[in-house]
Parts: sequence; C-alpha cells; structure tokens
Amino acid sequence: MQHHASPILDEYWQGFELARDDTHRYLWIWMGWNIRLIAVARHDVTEYDHGWCYRRDPEMVAAAVAAWDSDTQDEPTGWHKRPTWPIRQAPRRDEAPHYNRPRCEHGSYFVDDGCRVLNCRDLLRHEKRTAAATPQGER
Ligand SMILES: [Zn+2]
Repeated sequence: MQHHASPILDEYWQGFELARDDTHRYLWIWMGWNIRLIAVARHDVTEYDHGWCYRRDPEMVAAAVAAWDSDTQDEPTGWHKRPTWPIRQAPRRDEAPHYNRPRCEHGSYFVDDGCRVLNCRDLLRHEKRTAAATPQGER
C-alpha cells in the first residue's frame, strides 16, 4: 500500500486520495454529516467497491488510513458505519487474524466487545444464532 505524503485532489469525486494499492485508490469525500472513505477500483473511476463513514474530521480519516495496511487488514479503523457490501477482504488477511475478526456494520468487534449502537442488527443476529446453537438446559 502506498500512502501519499499529502492528499491528492480528485476532480471527479471532489475528494482527496490518501493512498492506493494494487487494486484500489482510497479517497475521502464529504457526505452530508459524514465523511465517507471510499475504495475506488483502479480500472473504474466512476464507482466504488467499499465505503466507510467517519465523523466530519479529515485529520481523523487521514490518521486511520495512514495506520492501515490494506494488504493484510480488511478495513481501516475509526469509522462508525459501513454502507457497502460485501465486506472488504485483504489479499493477505491470514497474516492478521486478530485484526480481521468479524466487525458489525458500526465497526465494533461485536462478538468480543458488543456494540455501542442500541439494537445493532449484526449483534442481534449473532446473539440469536448463539442462542439457537445452545441446547435448552445449558442456558
Ligand atoms: Zn453494531
């Protein structure tokens, strides 16, 4: 992953490219009350494959991307909403199993830590599955 020393303005997206790797460019755009970090495939400039919503704090987004290794880590940190599906998978994700534990759509490692969002759908689904897999007498 190549991180840029300073953000590169992207005229099409009206946003700033922070980094790129072999398959995608990673740039942030203003999006209503949020900033959205988007992964734009290098062969297609008009759509994006993955997105993560952050607070309106460009420095926070830049720090999250600077700390991210897209080759081994599925997603960056610090976002509060993942509006896209499927979840990104890093090409060498097996090298960082702890980092790449499942996260809910709000970015929490919900299996271990729960989620701060009330009625998180991913957490509720997980709890339902766990309850269904546990025999009656063992609850
Ligand atoms: Zn959640």
